[in-house]
Amino acid sequence: MTTLIDTLKVEDGTETAYAAEISARLEGLTAQEILRLTLTEFFPSQIALSSSFGADSAVLLHMVSEINPHTPVIFLDTDRHFFQTTQYRNQLVKQLGLTNLINLKADPQEAKDFDPKGILWQQSTDACCALRKVRPLNRVTDDYQAWITGRKRHQSATRTHMPLVEWDGRNYKVNPLATWTSEDIKAYMAENDLPPHPLVEQGYPSIGCFPCTKPVEEGQDARAGRWAGQEKTECGIHSVAYGEGI
Ligand code: SF4
Repeated sequence: MTTLIDTLKVEDGTETAYAAEISARLEGLTAQEILRLTLTEFFPSQIALSSSFGADSAVLLHMVSEINPHTPVIFLDTDRHFFQTTQYRNQLVKQLGLTNLINLKADPQEAKDFDPKGILWQQSTDACCALRKVRPLNRVTDDYQAWITGRKRHQSATRTHMPLVEWDGRNYKVNPLATWTSEDIKAYMAENDLPPHPLVEQGYPSIGCFPCTKPVEEGQDARAGRWAGQEKTECGIHSVAYGEGI
C-alpha cells in the first residue's frame, strides 16, 4: 500500500530527511491530530504503540483507543515489573477496549543462557535490559515501519531536543507528546477520567522494573529514580543499537 510517507520523498533524501519533513508538517498540531495522521495516513497498518503502562501511559493508550482500538500495543514484559503495573495494564486494556496487546518476553533459551539465576540486573543493567527489553523488541521491530512512543522533552536532559518524528536507523519513532508537560498529562487524565498508576501517589513519576526504579524527591527530573546512582538513563529501546552486548 502506498502511504502518505511515500509522497514526502525529498530528492536524494534519507529516512532522516523524511522524518524531519514529517516533523515539520506535524509541528503545531495537537497530540491527537499527530496520532490520527500517523495512524491513518502516514503509516496505516504499519505502526505500533510501545507502552510501559507507566505513570503517563494512559494518555496515549486512550487517544489510540479512540482512533483505532485494534492498534498493536507492545508491552515489554520483563517479569520484573511492579505487580501494580501488570494490574494497571490489565485494567487499562479492559477499560479502553484495546484488542491487540502484545506481551513481549525474553527468549527463554537466552534467559537461561545469560541469566540463569535471574539476577543479571545486579551485575549489568545494560545486559539485563538488552536481554529483557531490547532483544525481545528487536524480534518484532521489522513488523512495523513506525513506533509511537510516550517520550517527552521535559523528562530528562537527553530528551530536550527530541523531534516529533525521528528515524532511529531502523524505524520511524513518533513522539506525539514531545511537548507535553506533567500538567498537560494531569489535565488530560482528569478530563478523560483516566485512572492513575497506583505508584504515582507514592512518589514514582516514572515507573520501570522494580529493581531499577526508586521514588524521586521534589524538584528532581521525573526519570531521576530510574537506574538511580548509575550513569544509565535509558534502557536502550530508543537507540540504534538493538540489543548487542549481553
Ligand atoms: S530495568 Fe532493570 S530489571 Fe528491568 S530489564 Fe532493565 S536492568 Fe533488568
